[in-house]
Amino acid sequence: MKTRGGDGLQLAEQKMYPVIQDYLEQNGCERVLIEKVTFDYIKRWTIDVAGIKEARVYAVEAKPHLTFDSFSAALTQARYYKQACTHVYVCLSEASNKKEEELLRHIEEICEQEGVGLLLLTPQLKIQKLKEAKETKPDLDKYFPVMQQLTVERPSDKIQGARVFILRDLCYYLAGSPFKGEALEKDLRKHFFSRNPASSAYWRKAYINPRTKAERTLDATTIAAEDLGLIERVERQDEKCLRLTCLGRDLVNVIDVSEAGKTELSEQVKAFFHALSQRYLEVRTAVHTLKEFGGRILYGKNECNKGHRFWADKAFIEEGKILCPKCREELSPKSEKTSLLSRLVLKLRYDPYPQLVFWINSRVLPIRSYSRNKILEYVPTQK
Ligand SMILES: [Zn+2]
Repeated sequence: MKTRGGDGLQLAEQKMYPVIQDYLEQNGCERVLIEKVTFDYIKRWTIDVAGIKEARVYAVEAKPHLTFDSFSAALTQARYYKQACTHVYVCLSEASNKKEEELLRHIEEICEQEGVGLLLLTPQLKIQKLKEAKETKPDLDKYFPVMQQLTVERPSDKIQGARVFILRDLCYYLAGSPFKGEALEKDLRKHFFSRNPASSAYWRKAYINPRTKAERTLDATTIAAEDLGLIERVERQDEKCLRLTCLGRDLVNVIDVSEAGKTELSEQVKAFFHALSQRYLEVRTAVHTLKEFGGRILYGKNECNKGHRFWADKAFIEEGKILCPKCREELSPKSEKTSLLSRLVLKLRYDPYPQLVFWINSRVLPIRSYSRNKILEYVPTQK
């Protein structure tokens, strides 16, 4: 939890997070997230640093100063974290004088009684473990969503600027001559623009925004290709190269020679990307939710019964309900004016907008969009 009041304090706390993240990774955590993992218990809590190691979920509450007040605030939070995590730590700064050393001994005792672990940050930005956390038995209904947030695969937000036909061509050119699966990024870009000049209709079809440059679209697409596992970055004699992965080769194998450089996708390429999309929880949940709803639905904009309109990120989510920020009335799950995005934020606990924009624009999902993605509809067969 960020410290309220005093930007300096907040800044000092945020500087602790990457150090704690490194520490948890060095101690075997497979994934560590900073200020991303949330759970609900009385209110919504955001864990400063959370990590996962097999079935164990670690939570660290950081406080930049070693004072009694900051410790008791951290301890209160740590008690709540035990509802959702198996190992809970408080991280404070190392003692720098006699008085602080005394306080620290007292803090150690309390941590021992509470089963809360204690970490100290040294002035050299190293973490020292003073006390191991006792394993606690969390409430499974709170533990599961936390574990899910720590394990789910999600491409970066940059994916919204990428286009499937450009992804296809990126892999196609990388596989072909002269690269044969591996190229310096600058060489691949040069090759790409010699085939599809930046001024051509090809890039205008990417229609992200009329002012978007072809270079930026290619940047976003390269990042997306990496996030989706189609290409990887490798070092070759101190130079950074792009290399096609096995999955990228699978894609190249279904590409028809005649479709490269065109904006339309063949049925085989659509099928490939449809299969790929099923890896992602936000896609499966979006399709499932639309199917369940069975009709047209607003994508990101909500409208309450009183006619207040607001984007999904302005909606209040409390106790499993979506509320209007103006009148606090619950939005009906039966209404087509309760947006898909709000329903997904409720279920997934993150805003999957950039990822879904990519998949919806790709036209490989059984979802059709109207009026520039304002309205969505489930269509069992996609043409
Ligand atoms: Zn309202």
